[in-house]
Amino acid sequence: MTQQYQYDVIVAGGGIAGVNAAVAAAKKGAKTLLLEKSCNLGGLATSGLINIFLPLCDGNGHQVTFGLTEELLKRSMIYGPGKVPSDWMEKRDASEVERLRCVFSPASMILALEEFLLENNVEIWYDSLITGMEKEGNRIKSLYVENTDGRVEVTANAFVDSTGTALLAKLVKEEVSYGKNVLSLWALEYEGSCQYGRDRMVPDVNMLTRGNAERTFINPTAKDVTSYMVETRTMMRKFYKEQYAGSSDRFTRWPLFIAAMPQFRKIAALKGKGEISDNMNNTYFADSIGLVSDWRKSGPVWEIPFSTLEAPHTENLFASGRCISSVGDAWEITRCIPSAGLTGEAAGYAAALYKAEERNLLCGKVQSCMEENGNILHWEEALKA
Ligand SMILES: Cc1cc2nc3c(=O)[nH]c(=O)nc-3n(C[C@H](O)[C@H](O)[C@H](O)COP(=O)(O)OP(=O)(O)OC[C@H]3O[C@@H](n4cnc5c(N)ncnc54)[C@H](O)[C@@H]3O)c2cc1C
Repeated sequence: MTQQYQYDVIVAGGGIAGVNAAVAAAKKGAKTLLLEKSCNLGGLATSGLINIFLPLCDGNGHQVTFGLTEELLKRSMIYGPGKVPSDWMEKRDASEVERLRCVFSPASMILALEEFLLENNVEIWYDSLITGMEKEGNRIKSLYVENTDGRVEVTANAFVDSTGTALLAKLVKEEVSYGKNVLSLWALEYEGSCQYGRDRMVPDVNMLTRGNAERTFINPTAKDVTSYMVETRTMMRKFYKEQYAGSSDRFTRWPLFIAAMPQFRKIAALKGKGEISDNMNNTYFADSIGLVSDWRKSGPVWEIPFSTLEAPHTENLFASGRCISSVGDAWEITRCIPSAGLTGEAAGYAAALYKAEERNLLCGKVQSCMEENGNILHWEEALKA
């Protein structure tokens, strides 16, 4: 017989969004379980070796993202290195490196994320792969998880999809949209005499980044995932055997760490009750849960509507991170760490406060929690500050 466990909130996936969702839910008193298929937290931001916490400000001196995301940025630097430019507030039309952002070590981030969960009494299950689900009417009842205990059923009142792949949305047969991914290689290498900076972790440790825009993946299959990993590693072998030959040797430059997951940017996203798309920056949404900036240029600020987290046919499922309901240019913004943090926080509050009989009041309650924790909901207000 399958073992069964009962929680108030279950968060699927322990990336940036999942960690913030679990902390937010636990802060509201929910008995919270976070399920993670690997043995590390952070998802792409750590196992995918992404090491830049993109800006929380608009590049013109206004902070736009606050709350648990700001706390996470500070926590990402606790175990070093990383620093926020001290004069980001004075800058106008600032470049990305001059803004309220930092470089972090993936290992430091893993330590900090786990500490954040433990301090907030979130139960973590590592090495636990979500494989199935039970539905009851228009709600999810439970998830099936495979781990060393075998097949386990975990039941909860509400669920957060932080899988980065909209896995829960797909399992419950909500509609999803797919993004286009190109081949990217991000790896850590030793390179004598590097200076600390954008792509430098610490002196002598370099982030090797390359890509192939011609090689694309949409709705990647299992075979695509393997090809992606093999192709990026083939690219690396070529660098060390051929391209670096002459300029460095195996004593002055070598691979230190390679990604443990494919660096797909946009796999699948929920088609939510609402959706954001191109040119919706600086747009007022009555149900906004907070703000994110455009990491590519100074100026634009995006309100994120609660409806982009809500599953149209499953009332106790909330999306967060890179699988919220956004397409096109909006997905370029919402797939990044600041938005993962923001939407994770909101989805966590939503899951903790969800009551079937008061479902229509949920958005207002989430907005109040976001504001109580320092978030600003509307862009005009943030730019006044
Ligand atoms: C090449 C590249 C460069 C990038 N550069 C930057 C950058 O410089 N700065 C920035 O801010 N962002 C960057 N991003 C984007 C950013 O890193 C991610 O999109 C963001 O971290 C996503 O967070 P998430 O929590 O939504 O999802 P993920 O990080 O994907 O986390 C999902 C988690 O769910 C777990 N999971 C999935 N399926 C299951 C399952 N069945 N059972 C249990 N657990 C499961 C995964 O193991 C993972 O830990 C980059 C992305 C790429 C690909």
